[in-house]
Amino acid sequence: REEIEQGLEKTRQSVFAKLSKAVAGKSKVDAEVLDDLEEVLISSDVGIDTTLKIIEAIEERVARDKYLGTSELNQILREEIAGLLKSKEGADSGFSLPEKRPYVLMVVGVNGVGKTTTIGKLANQFKKAGLSVVLGAADTFRAAAVDQLEIWSERVDVPIVKQAMGSDPASVAFDAVQSAISRNADVVIIDTAGRLHNKVNLMNELSKIKRVMQKLVPDAPHEVLLVLDASTGQNALEQAKQFSKATQITALALTKLDGTAKGGVAIGISDQLQIPVKYIGVGEGIDDLRVFDKEAFVNSLFE
Ligand code: GDP
Repeated sequence: REEIEQGLEKTRQSVFAKLSKAVAGKSKVDAEVLDDLEEVLISSDVGIDTTLKIIEAIEERVARDKYLGTSELNQILREEIAGLLKSKEGADSGFSLPEKRPYVLMVVGVNGVGKTTTIGKLANQFKKAGLSVVLGAADTFRAAAVDQLEIWSERVDVPIVKQAMGSDPASVAFDAVQSAISRNADVVIIDTAGRLHNKVNLMNELSKIKRVMQKLVPDAPHEVLLVLDASTGQNALEQAKQFSKATQITALALTKLDGTAKGGVAIGISDQLQIPVKYIGVGEGIDDLRVFDKEAFVNSLFE
């Protein structure tokens, strides 16, 4: 809880300060407060559509109750936002592993968002939980991607399966899953190339990776995690929309929340795409990945 607050410090300060300003000197929620609130939400990167949804809900509430004090506004906002966030309650909403192993996690996202770092952090969490992990370097497009993943595999001390640059990503994914099976590993995490600029290619590449892995594990991948950089705000929302068109995304990780006031983007993305945020990145270190706790997130915005 405290750690999430630290990670969200910039968003928290910004949202809370703007919100206090919006209601300063007012005793009731009127058109002006709602206008100001709309501005606060949009400037916190909640996104226009989701902001309007929230404002409408509050307008309805004002109409129904005739009078709504500004002191109640916080509480209502919290409820509305919590309702839009798709994550389950409580701090246990990370990935739940099926009985059957290996658990196959495919990770997608454009370069620079923190994909490799998130994979490293996740591998570390799985390992700490007593699970054995294999990494698959299926981003064969960039040599740097494989190198970076290799550094993480050494840091976390988990095996990595790779092939030469430019080799078929699906072949790497197959090898990685096969290696996981032969080692009796619990988890295999597949890194993929996130080249959004050619959506047809991306779509074909990701579906081929899935198809090939399914020869070994019929229900693989168990999760497709999209990594997004929260500090890019509405761009992150746009990327999420694009990736959703290319493949079925089942979970989101929002990185770099520690350095940004744009944390509101979690609300917009969750609402617009109906995909749960499962993890948030709150720093560059190995332990700076948190399971996304909806309650703590909402609380940290308004306290
Ligand atoms: P990739 O290209 O998507 O694989 O991105 P990387 O994992 O290499 O990360 C890009 C940069 O973002 C690196 O400098 C990371 O240390 C940094 N980074 C990743 N996640 C976070 C985070 O949650 N917070 C901060 N502050 N930096 C992060």
